[in-house]
Amino acid sequence: MLKDKVALITGGGRGIGLSIALELARNGADIALFDVNADDLNTACERIGEHGVKAIGLNVDVTDFEAVSESVKKVADELGAPVILVNNAGITRDNLLLRMSEAEWSSVISVNLTGTFNVTKACLRGMTRNRWGRIVNIASVVGLMGNAGQANYAASKAGIIGFTKATAKEIAARNVTVNAIAPGYIRTAMTDKLSDEARQTLEGLIPLKRLGEPADVARCVSFLCSCAADYVTGQVLNVDGGMVM
Ligand code: NDP
Repeated sequence: MLKDKVALITGGGRGIGLSIALELARNGADIALFDVNADDLNTACERIGEHGVKAIGLNVDVTDFEAVSESVKKVADELGAPVILVNNAGITRDNLLLRMSEAEWSSVISVNLTGTFNVTKACLRGMTRNRWGRIVNIASVVGLMGNAGQANYAASKAGIIGFTKATAKEIAARNVTVNAIAPGYIRTAMTDKLSDEARQTLEGLIPLKRLGEPADVARCVSFLCSCAADYVTGQVLNVDGGMVM
Protein backbone atom coordinates (compact mmCIF):
# COMPACT_ATOMS: atom_id res chain seq x y z
CA MET A 1 0.00 0.00 0.00
CA LEU A 2 2.84 2.47 0.86
CA LYS A 3 5.61 0.85 -1.20
CA ASP A 4 8.32 3.30 -2.39
CA LYS A 5 7.05 6.00 -0.04
CA VAL A 6 9.33 7.42 2.67
CA ALA A 7 7.78 8.00 6.09
CA LEU A 8 9.42 10.10 8.82
CA ILE A 9 8.28 9.47 12.40
CA THR A 10 9.51 11.68 15.23
CA GLY A 11 9.99 10.14 18.66
CA GLY A 12 9.93 6.83 16.80
CA GLY A 13 12.45 4.98 18.96
CA ARG A 14 9.85 3.55 21.31
CA GLY A 15 6.22 3.63 22.46
CA ILE A 16 3.49 4.82 20.10
CA GLY A 17 6.03 6.19 17.58
CA LEU A 18 7.73 2.81 17.19
CA SER A 19 4.37 1.07 16.82
CA ILE A 20 3.44 3.56 14.06
CA ALA A 21 6.78 2.98 12.32
CA LEU A 22 6.28 -0.81 12.39
CA GLU A 23 2.74 -0.51 11.02
CA LEU A 24 3.81 1.78 8.14
CA ALA A 25 6.76 -0.56 7.41
CA ARG A 26 4.34 -3.52 7.32
CA ASN A 27 2.51 -1.56 4.61
CA GLY A 28 5.72 -1.17 2.61
CA ALA A 29 7.01 2.32 3.50
CA ASP A 30 10.71 3.00 4.02
CA ILE A 31 11.16 4.55 7.44
CA ALA A 32 13.22 7.38 8.94
CA LEU A 33 13.12 7.92 12.68
CA PHE A 34 14.09 11.05 14.63
CA ASP A 35 14.62 10.53 18.35
CA VAL A 36 16.86 11.80 21.14
CA ASN A 37 17.53 8.28 22.40
CA ALA A 38 20.30 6.67 20.28
CA ASP A 39 20.08 3.18 21.88
CA ASP A 40 16.35 2.92 21.16
CA LEU A 41 16.93 4.00 17.55
CA ASN A 42 19.27 1.09 16.79
CA THR A 43 16.89 -1.55 18.15
CA ALA A 44 13.92 0.12 16.45
CA CYS A 45 15.65 0.13 13.04
CA GLU A 46 16.49 -3.58 13.39
CA ARG A 47 12.84 -4.41 14.10
CA ILE A 48 11.59 -2.25 11.21
CA GLY A 49 14.13 -3.85 8.83
CA GLU A 50 12.51 -7.25 9.50
CA HIS A 51 9.63 -6.05 7.29
CA GLY A 52 11.97 -5.88 4.29
CA VAL A 53 12.00 -2.08 4.04
CA LYS A 54 14.84 0.42 4.53
CA ALA A 55 15.12 2.08 7.93
CA ILE A 56 17.39 4.82 9.25
CA GLY A 57 17.44 6.37 12.70
CA LEU A 58 18.83 9.83 13.34
CA ASN A 59 19.63 11.26 16.73
CA VAL A 60 17.72 14.54 16.36
CA ASP A 61 16.14 16.84 18.90
CA VAL A 62 12.98 18.19 17.24
CA THR A 63 13.34 21.49 19.10
CA ASP A 64 16.54 22.29 17.16
CA PHE A 65 15.38 24.01 13.95
CA GLU A 66 18.75 23.80 12.15
CA ALA A 67 19.41 20.18 13.13
CA VAL A 68 15.92 19.19 11.95
CA SER A 69 16.41 20.89 8.60
CA GLU A 70 19.84 19.26 8.06
CA SER A 71 18.51 15.85 9.10
CA VAL A 72 15.52 16.00 6.72
CA LYS A 73 18.06 16.68 3.92
CA LYS A 74 20.04 13.64 5.06
CA VAL A 75 16.91 11.48 4.89
CA ALA A 76 16.18 12.81 1.39
CA ASP A 77 19.73 11.90 0.28
CA GLU A 78 19.63 8.40 1.75
CA LEU A 79 16.02 7.29 1.20
CA GLY A 80 14.23 10.04 -0.75
CA ALA A 81 12.23 13.02 0.47
CA PRO A 82 9.71 12.09 3.19
CA VAL A 83 6.15 12.23 1.83
CA ILE A 84 4.60 10.90 5.04
CA LEU A 85 5.32 12.71 8.29
CA VAL A 86 4.10 11.65 11.72
CA ASN A 87 4.78 14.30 14.37
CA ASN A 88 4.74 12.04 17.40
CA ALA A 89 7.60 13.21 19.69
CA GLY A 90 6.08 14.48 22.91
CA ILE A 91 6.84 14.93 26.59
CA THR A 92 4.95 15.72 29.79
CA ARG A 93 6.16 17.87 32.72
CA ASP A 94 3.05 17.82 34.91
CA ASN A 95 2.44 20.28 37.72
CA LEU A 96 -0.39 22.41 39.03
CA LEU A 97 -0.25 25.85 37.42
CA LEU A 98 0.47 27.54 40.76
CA ARG A 99 3.64 25.45 41.05
CA MET A 100 4.55 25.13 37.38
CA SER A 101 7.99 26.54 36.58
CA GLU A 102 8.79 28.47 33.44
CA ALA A 103 11.08 25.57 32.45
CA GLU A 104 8.23 23.03 32.79
CA TRP A 105 6.01 25.23 30.63
CA SER A 106 8.53 26.03 27.90
CA SER A 107 10.06 22.55 27.55
CA VAL A 108 6.64 21.00 26.83
CA ILE A 109 5.68 23.75 24.37
CA SER A 110 9.10 23.46 22.67
CA VAL A 111 9.05 19.71 22.12
CA ASN A 112 5.34 19.16 21.46
CA LEU A 113 4.36 22.29 19.53
CA THR A 114 7.51 23.98 18.20
CA GLY A 115 8.94 20.54 17.34
CA THR A 116 5.83 19.87 15.22
CA PHE A 117 6.34 23.21 13.43
CA ASN A 118 10.07 22.59 12.85
CA VAL A 119 9.71 19.14 11.29
CA THR A 120 6.61 20.01 9.26
CA LYS A 121 8.31 23.08 7.80
CA ALA A 122 11.39 21.07 6.86
CA CYS A 123 9.31 18.40 5.05
CA LEU A 124 6.74 20.62 3.36
CA ARG A 125 8.59 21.56 0.17
CA GLY A 126 9.31 17.90 -0.66
CA MET A 127 5.65 17.00 -0.24
CA THR A 128 4.26 19.92 -2.27
CA ARG A 129 6.75 19.21 -5.09
CA ASN A 130 5.63 15.59 -5.04
CA ARG A 131 1.96 16.64 -5.25
CA TRP A 132 1.12 14.00 -2.66
CA GLY A 133 1.78 14.00 1.04
CA ARG A 134 0.36 12.89 4.37
CA ILE A 135 0.97 14.61 7.70
CA VAL A 136 -0.42 13.10 10.90
CA ASN A 137 0.08 15.04 14.12
CA ILE A 138 -0.26 13.18 17.41
CA ALA A 139 -2.30 15.39 19.73
CA SER A 140 -4.19 14.12 22.81
CA VAL A 141 -7.71 14.13 24.21
CA VAL A 142 -6.20 16.40 26.87
CA GLY A 143 -5.91 19.06 24.15
CA LEU A 144 -9.69 18.81 23.70
CA MET A 145 -10.93 18.52 27.27
CA GLY A 146 -8.08 19.86 29.48
CA ASN A 147 -6.68 18.08 32.51
CA ALA A 148 -5.74 19.43 35.94
CA GLY A 149 -1.95 19.46 36.35
CA GLN A 150 -1.33 19.54 32.61
CA ALA A 151 -1.86 23.18 31.53
CA ASN A 152 1.41 23.07 29.55
CA TYR A 153 0.64 19.72 27.88
CA ALA A 154 -3.03 20.61 27.16
CA ALA A 155 -1.99 23.95 25.62
CA SER A 156 0.63 22.24 23.44
CA LYS A 157 -1.83 19.61 22.21
CA ALA A 158 -4.65 22.15 21.59
CA GLY A 159 -2.02 24.16 19.68
CA ILE A 160 -1.24 21.11 17.54
CA ILE A 161 -4.94 20.83 16.63
CA GLY A 162 -5.06 24.49 15.50
CA PHE A 163 -1.79 24.02 13.61
CA THR A 164 -3.25 20.93 11.89
CA LYS A 165 -6.34 22.77 10.65
CA ALA A 166 -4.45 25.88 9.44
CA THR A 167 -1.82 23.79 7.63
CA ALA A 168 -4.50 21.54 6.10
CA LYS A 169 -6.15 24.61 4.53
CA GLU A 170 -2.83 26.00 3.25
CA ILE A 171 -1.64 22.91 1.42
CA ALA A 172 -4.78 21.04 0.39
CA ALA A 173 -4.42 22.33 -3.19
CA ARG A 174 -1.12 20.42 -3.43
CA ASN A 175 -2.82 17.15 -2.50
CA VAL A 176 -1.19 17.06 0.94
CA THR A 177 -3.55 16.12 3.77
CA VAL A 178 -2.96 17.08 7.39
CA ASN A 179 -4.86 15.38 10.20
CA ALA A 180 -4.47 14.91 13.93
CA ILE A 181 -5.03 11.90 16.13
CA ALA A 182 -6.09 12.49 19.72
CA PRO A 183 -5.23 9.37 21.72
CA GLY A 184 -6.83 8.79 25.10
CA TYR A 185 -4.87 6.76 27.64
CA ILE A 186 -2.50 4.41 25.83
CA ARG A 187 -0.28 1.80 27.52
CA THR A 188 3.31 3.13 27.16
CA ALA A 189 6.15 4.34 29.39
CA MET A 190 4.14 7.58 29.75
CA THR A 191 1.19 5.77 31.40
CA ASP A 192 3.17 2.98 33.13
CA LYS A 193 3.78 5.49 35.93
CA LEU A 194 0.08 5.25 36.95
CA SER A 195 -0.77 3.36 40.16
CA ASP A 196 -3.10 0.32 39.90
CA GLU A 197 -5.79 2.35 41.61
CA ALA A 198 -5.43 5.25 39.16
CA ARG A 199 -5.54 2.79 36.25
CA GLN A 200 -8.75 1.17 37.52
CA THR A 201 -10.38 4.57 38.00
CA LEU A 202 -9.43 5.50 34.45
CA GLU A 203 -10.76 2.26 32.99
CA GLY A 204 -14.08 3.06 34.66
CA LEU A 205 -14.25 6.30 32.65
CA ILE A 206 -13.61 4.62 29.30
CA PRO A 207 -16.71 3.17 27.57
CA LEU A 208 -14.62 0.36 26.00
CA LYS A 209 -13.29 -0.42 29.54
CA ARG A 210 -9.59 -0.71 28.72
CA LEU A 211 -6.57 1.49 28.12
CA GLY A 212 -5.57 1.68 24.47
CA GLU A 213 -2.58 -0.11 22.97
CA PRO A 214 0.04 1.66 20.80
CA ALA A 215 -1.18 -0.52 17.89
CA ASP A 216 -4.69 0.99 18.24
CA VAL A 217 -3.16 4.39 17.41
CA ALA A 218 -0.80 3.00 14.75
CA ARG A 219 -3.61 1.42 12.72
CA CYS A 220 -5.47 4.77 12.62
CA VAL A 221 -2.31 6.57 11.46
CA SER A 222 -1.96 3.95 8.75
CA PHE A 223 -5.57 4.58 7.67
CA LEU A 224 -4.97 8.35 7.43
CA CYS A 225 -1.85 7.69 5.29
CA SER A 226 -3.67 5.29 2.98
CA CYS A 227 -5.72 5.99 -0.15
CA ALA A 228 -8.83 5.12 1.93
CA ALA A 229 -8.39 8.58 3.52
CA ASP A 230 -7.71 10.52 0.30
CA TYR A 231 -10.66 12.85 0.98
CA VAL A 232 -10.00 13.43 4.70
CA THR A 233 -8.09 16.53 5.82
CA GLY A 234 -8.06 18.94 8.77
CA GLN A 235 -9.73 16.37 11.04
CA VAL A 236 -9.09 15.20 14.58
CA LEU A 237 -9.63 11.47 15.06
CA ASN A 238 -10.07 10.49 18.72
CA VAL A 239 -8.58 7.09 19.53
CA ASP A 240 -9.72 6.86 23.12
CA GLY A 241 -12.16 3.98 23.61
CA GLY A 242 -15.03 6.48 23.52
CA MET A 243 -13.79 8.62 26.42
CA VAL A 244 -14.47 11.94 24.68
CA MET A 245 -17.58 12.14 22.50
P1 NDP B 1 7.20 7.92 24.96
O1 NDP B 1 7.77 8.81 26.02
O2 NDP B 1 7.09 6.46 25.22
O3 NDP B 1 7.98 8.13 23.59
C1 NDP B 1 8.26 9.41 23.10
C2 NDP B 1 9.55 9.36 22.34
O4 NDP B 1 9.87 10.69 21.91
C3 NDP B 1 10.72 8.90 23.22
O5 NDP B 1 11.59 8.05 22.53
C4 NDP B 1 11.40 10.21 23.54
O6 NDP B 1 12.79 10.09 23.88
C5 NDP B 1 11.21 10.97 22.25
N1 NDP B 1 11.46 12.39 22.42
C6 NDP B 1 11.26 13.15 23.53
N2 NDP B 1 11.67 14.40 23.32
C7 NDP B 1 12.15 14.45 22.05
C8 NDP B 1 12.73 15.46 21.25
N3 NDP B 1 12.93 16.70 21.73
N4 NDP B 1 13.14 15.17 20.00
C9 NDP B 1 12.98 13.92 19.50
N5 NDP B 1 12.44 12.90 20.20
C10 NDP B 1 12.02 13.17 21.46
O7 NDP B 1 5.76 8.55 24.62
P2 NDP B 1 4.43 7.85 24.04
O8 NDP B 1 4.78 6.83 23.03
O9 NDP B 1 3.57 7.50 25.18
O10 NDP B 1 3.74 9.12 23.34
C11 NDP B 1 3.93 9.43 21.96
C12 NDP B 1 3.04 10.61 21.61
O11 NDP B 1 1.68 10.29 21.91
C13 NDP B 1 3.36 11.88 22.39
O12 NDP B 1 3.22 12.99 21.56
C14 NDP B 1 2.31 11.89 23.47
O13 NDP B 1 2.04 13.18 23.94
C15 NDP B 1 1.13 11.31 22.72
N6 NDP B 1 0.11 10.73 23.59
C16 NDP B 1 0.39 9.68 24.42
C17 NDP B 1 -0.59 9.15 25.22
C18 NDP B 1 -0.34 7.99 26.12
O14 NDP B 1 -1.27 7.61 26.85
N7 NDP B 1 0.81 7.37 26.11
C19 NDP B 1 -1.95 9.73 25.24
C20 NDP B 1 -2.14 10.82 24.34
C21 NDP B 1 -1.14 11.30 23.55
P3 NDP B 1 13.19 9.93 25.48
O15 NDP B 1 12.81 8.55 25.80
O16 NDP B 1 14.64 10.15 25.52
O17 NDP B 1 12.40 11.00 26.18
